[in-house]
Amino acid sequence: MKNVKIVVLGAGPAGMSAAWRLSQLGYPVTVLERDSAVGGMGKTIAVGKYAVDYGPHTFHIRETDESRAIHEAIKPFFGDDPLILTRGTRVLLRGKEYVYPLEMLQVLTGVSPLLSARIVFDYLVATLKSALAPAKKEHSFEEWGVRNLGRTLYDLCFGIYSARVWGLPTSQISSKQAQRVAKLNLKNIILRTLGVRADPATYFTKYMYPRKGISVLYESMAAAIRRAGNCILLESPVVRLERDGDRIARVVYKQHGREQTIDCDGVLSTLPLPSLVSMMTPELPPSVAQHASKLRYRSLKLIYIALARAQLTDYHWVYLLDEQYRVNRMSEQKNVSGDMVPPDRTILCIELSCWRDEPMWNASDEEIYRIALRDLLKMGYGVTEDEVEDYYVTDIPTAYPVYELNFEDHLIPVLEGVHAVPNLLTLGRHGLFLNNSMDDNVLLGMKVADHIAADGFNSQAWLSEMLAFMNLRFAGK
Ligand SMILES: Cc1cc2nc3c(=O)[nH]c(=O)nc-3n(C[C@H](O)[C@H](O)[C@H](O)COP(=O)(O)OP(=O)(O)OC[C@H]3O[C@@H](n4cnc5c(N)ncnc54)[C@H](O)[C@@H]3O)c2cc1C
Repeated sequence: MKNVKIVVLGAGPAGMSAAWRLSQLGYPVTVLERDSAVGGMGKTIAVGKYAVDYGPHTFHIRETDESRAIHEAIKPFFGDDPLILTRGTRVLLRGKEYVYPLEMLQVLTGVSPLLSARIVFDYLVATLKSALAPAKKEHSFEEWGVRNLGRTLYDLCFGIYSARVWGLPTSQISSKQAQRVAKLNLKNIILRTLGVRADPATYFTKYMYPRKGISVLYESMAAAIRRAGNCILLESPVVRLERDGDRIARVVYKQHGREQTIDCDGVLSTLPLPSLVSMMTPELPPSVAQHASKLRYRSLKLIYIALARAQLTDYHWVYLLDEQYRVNRMSEQKNVSGDMVPPDRTILCIELSCWRDEPMWNASDEEIYRIALRDLLKMGYGVTEDEVEDYYVTDIPTAYPVYELNFEDHLIPVLEGVHAVPNLLTLGRHGLFLNNSMDDNVLLGMKVADHIAADGFNSQAWLSEMLAFMNLRFAGK
């Protein structure tokens, strides 16, 4: 074993991948996790007699060298005979289903002729304006959308839905939020209409999935970490990072209500940045905490509804774009893996986003279920209340980093503030405030381990690498 003791904070995809790779490289590692299981948001939970993911979680396969390298490295962790799925997602728009990512021609032929004409007219005007006007940097998601898609298509397909998901008018959301849809430009629409796959990084069509749920992936990694002689402590929330001078010397966590301490040479954190900043003892400069308090997370309620029928749809999930819905998405676990749900039953997961300081967050499970049921009955799949056998409500407090306008003015000082601690590196969705997916976070876990092996805890070099990485993702690459 190498002589550098590393503590990893959080056992989600980023933390587990980092700990696994460091274990392979011979480092002594301890992972501290608040939850009673590994996987973070990528975990499988039991709901009555069903196994379901904590919100639908499939592992993306992109046609890029980076993605191929990740899959090659972690394929053994997917268990026997993993599923390779073809993306089966839809949107419900004006009462009709459309393939997602949206196909422009399908939308145009699906909506009323009048609406279709408005979409085309607005789109052409927007395209002309974009071509003629000097390239101006869009600031808000709305500006980006109207400029690239035209007002009608933008409102219909992105504006209404995004305002509900993020809980803000899209004029107050940064255009960086467009990272996921950034490829829906004229060039791509033409290429896709001609049947040419435009950008493999964005338009992936395949997923990989362990037959018994996404947890298998991270539990298998946990087994490899333990086989290497390293340690994962569950139900062990981190409470304090104690510094001697600049460097973190000890990590304090709670177990069975009592504080415990681990000495360390370096720390990798996947925790939400505001929590991380609040744990630092002595404190970081007050401006870092002030900026951290401006980084907001959107929370999710997950409502699982078990139905006394074999199947509701053929889809992995369906996005609900219309104004009439309060919930964002409905997914059906058995369509991802039939091994997780009995053949004669199905279970749905419905997602509803809210802020933690609004009454919805504290509403009773029954009230939340009623909202989800009301929307489910509206979806047009013929569900009746009599079919509901059971329901279960849980939540994800920090589901989505929210990109408010100019959020970087707060994010960058926070990232600089925490990386001023020379033996602390942050990564993952919360450690970077980056709305990314599991494959990205596995990549970051592997990258950080290789960075330490090559260069030790060089927090400034890691920060530069991460800022460059984030800029690529913000640009939709
Ligand atoms: C509803 C939903 C659906 C999604 N679907 C997909 C999908 O289909 N495919 C995909 O690739 N990605 C998906 N994602 C994104 C995916 O969940 C994230 O990319 C991934 O989980 C982030 O990994 P992470 O390790 O960075 O963070 P997390 O998974 O959030 O892990 C962080 C860990 O830190 C722990 N922690 C927090 N505070 C403390 C503390 N004080 N002490 C100790 N531990 C602590 C948490 O309990 C958690 O286990 C989805 C996200 C959501 C919200």
